[in-house]
Amino acid sequence: MKMRAAILYEPNKPMLVEEVTVDDPQEHEVMVKLLATGICHSDLLPIKGQVPQGLPVVVGHEGAGVVEKVGPGVASVQPGDHVIIACIYNCGKCPSCMDGQPSLCLESLPWHLMGSLPGGGKRLHKDQQDLNIMYSQGSFAEYAVVSDRQVFKVKPEAPPDVVCLFSCRVTTGIGAVANRAKVRAGDRIVVYGCGMVGLSVVMGARLCGAGQIIAVDMLDERLKVARELGATHTVNASSENPQVKTMEITGRGADYAFECIGNQAVMMQAFGSIHATGTCVIVGATPAADMVSFFPFEFLFGKTLVGCFFGNLRPGDLPSYIDLYTQGRLPLDKLTAGYYTLDQINEAVDAVDKAKVVRAVVRF
Ligand SMILES: [Zn+2]
Ligand SMILES: [Zn+2]
Repeated sequence: MKMRAAILYEPNKPMLVEEVTVDDPQEHEVMVKLLATGICHSDLLPIKGQVPQGLPVVVGHEGAGVVEKVGPGVASVQPGDHVIIACIYNCGKCPSCMDGQPSLCLESLPWHLMGSLPGGGKRLHKDQQDLNIMYSQGSFAEYAVVSDRQVFKVKPEAPPDVVCLFSCRVTTGIGAVANRAKVRAGDRIVVYGCGMVGLSVVMGARLCGAGQIIAVDMLDERLKVARELGATHTVNASSENPQVKTMEITGRGADYAFECIGNQAVMMQAFGSIHATGTCVIVGATPAADMVSFFPFEFLFGKTLVGCFFGNLRPGDLPSYIDLYTQGRLPLDKLTAGYYTLDQINEAVDAVDKAKVVRAVVRF
């Protein structure tokens, strides 16, 4: 059938919203009619040509909507179900999945990066040309055909323009705290970057009972939101040195530092903000060619540097995190929001790039 999708033909050029053909879902695939999609900072990487990405591509990986059709063998959802499309699919069979770490699914990653469905299938076409889809999803479109292992049923009362944020950024932030760092009551944490992921780290740290939550950013309005969400201290890095301030506030350095920007210099600052046995968690996605330097002697006494992808999500985390929102324990409504139509997709991306709003969402 025909639908409209935003197509990226060339990095650093506006996406074009055009009519395309979408195939019916095949075995273990689901067609979702999108109701909302978030715009994540990672969407900017292919748009700016900072990661390898087959073109043309339909970008977007924070979709929420209603199941339109299901292919043979799909048992987990049926037409009419409200769903969230996670930013990854998990095979359920590889060593990572069997080890309870579906966010690190080994089978998913190649397809995820190549821009197709698991197994290489492509269901979107512009004239005779197959279109790639970002992160096996491509949510900047009216419909997405995705693996049934990437779709999770949600309660219909949860608003799609909030649910979609859990597809990537909110889950990434909360999971980094709860699953990767495993922050305990009383821990001292510092978070660099107060975009959606960093603010989700703040909310996650509050839920885990962190004693001190230091939020670092260069924009006062974001720091204000961080305080409303649970930060106990804020540091504006354009006027104060966040490493020095973290030492002052904590007395010895943070137990955990979270880098949520994807910036080499900030990663070094975050690592420098933890104490001799603290842990620095790299959450931000950098351009593929970036490198970072550390002094090896800093590792001598036990400093730890770890990565974290999609919050090291565990099976079942997504619906429970959305429940935290519906219970009022994740105050996402406090975040500055901008709502756009699909035709305004380039404007929406620009708002994210220039940090005009935290919660940029396309509503369909
Ligand atoms: Zn797997
Ligand atoms: Zn993302």
